[in-house]
Amino acid sequence: MFSESEVEMEIVECSVCCSTKTALTCNTCNMGSCKKCAYFIDESEYEFLALFNEKPDGEIYCPNCYNDNIEPVLDKYNEILDLAKDVNAYVGNSDLRARAIRRIEKPVKIEDCLSREDALMRLGFLVAQKGFDTMVDVSIVSKKVGGAKRYKKLVWSGTAVPVDPKIRKY
Ligand SMILES: [Zn+2]
Ligand SMILES: [Zn+2]
Repeated sequence: MFSESEVEMEIVECSVCCSTKTALTCNTCNMGSCKKCAYFIDESEYEFLALFNEKPDGEIYCPNCYNDNIEPVLDKYNEILDLAKDVNAYVGNSDLRARAIRRIEKPVKIEDCLSREDALMRLGFLVAQKGFDTMVDVSIVSKKVGGAKRYKKLVWSGTAVPVDPKIRKY
């Protein structure tokens, strides 16, 4: 037989402020963290997080884990995002300078984008993440998806080849 106190739910105490009001646990170290002290990753603030190689697995972090592990990763994400905005894109295959650049990397691909610009930006993110500042053979296409005619919408997909513009074919 269990006495009543033994079957009571374990109370999680916040490891920072010692509040016992909430029972959140850090997704990294499992320490208790109350709502006020915990850090959350709001994915709507990090639009391209799904494309990020080092995307954190969890959603809730204690302040220690956030500062030590998550903040540096999110800083890196923001750095790549900044670089992505500066990626040079050569659409199609008509530019002579772009044609002369040697293709070494495999193409990057993106699907289910909301607009042409969104697809271009996401390709740029993937290219920047691979350490490149230029993409060639950029191809972006749209298709209609959805059921009945009036509910159809366009989704965009694209491919591009990351290149180093200094490495030329000729
Ligand atoms: Zn707390
Ligand atoms: Zn933690």
